[in-house]
Amino acid sequence: MRRRLIAGNWKMNGSAASARALLQRLAEFADDSKDVVVFPPMPYLSLAIDGNASSRVGTGAQNCAAYEQGAYTGEVSASMIADLGARHVLVGHSERRALFAENDATVLAKVQQALAAKLTVYVCVGETLAQRRQDQQQTVVAEQLQALIAELPASAWSSIVVAYEPVWAIGTGETATPEQAQAMHAFIRSQLQQVSPDVAEQTRILYGGSVKAANAAELFSQPDIDGGLVGGASLDAEEFLAICHS
Ligand code: 13P
Repeated sequence: MRRRLIAGNWKMNGSAASARALLQRLAEFADDSKDVVVFPPMPYLSLAIDGNASSRVGTGAQNCAAYEQGAYTGEVSASMIADLGARHVLVGHSERRALFAENDATVLAKVQQALAAKLTVYVCVGETLAQRRQDQQQTVVAEQLQALIAELPASAWSSIVVAYEPVWAIGTGETATPEQAQAMHAFIRSQLQQVSPDVAEQTRILYGGSVKAANAAELFSQPDIDGGLVGGASLDAEEFLAICHS
C-alpha cells in the first residue's frame, strides 16, 4: 500500500518572513495517514527544518550538485543538505532541464549524489507541449526514466519518488485531465517493471502541474496517482492544506 504524499515546491519565491508564516500554518497538519514535504529555496532550508521540527511536515531542497565536493562555486552538495537535517531533494525539475541545461546524465549524477547522502530523491519527468502534440509523451518519459533504470541498482528505488510533471501544465493553469495523468502514471509504473514487480508496485508517482484544491481530489483518486508535487498553490497555506486534505 503506497502512502499518499503531497509535496510543495516553493521554487524561487518568498522571504524568510513569508516562509516562517507558511510553515507555522502547515504545522497544523495532523493527518498521519499522509506524508507532506515542503521544498523551500536553499537559503531558507535551515529555517524550514527548524520550523518543521515539531510538525508532521518534512523538508527538502529543490536541487543538489552533481558532484560530491570541491571547487564548484555556488553549488550545494547533497551531503550538505543532509547535514542540515533535510531528508528530501528534487532532481531534474523541468525548469532545471530547460533553463539550466540539465540533461539525463546530469540528473543521474545528482540522483547518485542524493542517494549516497541518504536523501529521498524526487525525480521529475515530463514532456513539453510540442512533444505531446506529436504524441511523443511516452517516448520522452520512457527515455528520461531509462537513464535511471539502466544505471541504478534495484535497491535505490526504495529512496526514489517519481514526479510526472507535463511541462505544458506547469504554472499555466492547464492541468492534465485525470485520465491523461492516470494513463501516464500507469505507463511509468509499467516501465518500472523492468526493475522489478515490487519496485513497480511500491514506487510512489506524484502528479505535478497546476494542482489546486479544486482538482486535487479527482487527480489523487486515480489508481496510479499517489499524490502531488504542487508549485504555485503550495505558497498559499490554506490552499496547500486543502490539497493535503484532498
Ligand atoms: P505549478 O503547480 O505552479 O503548476 O507548478 C508545478 C511544479 O512545477 C511543481 O514542481
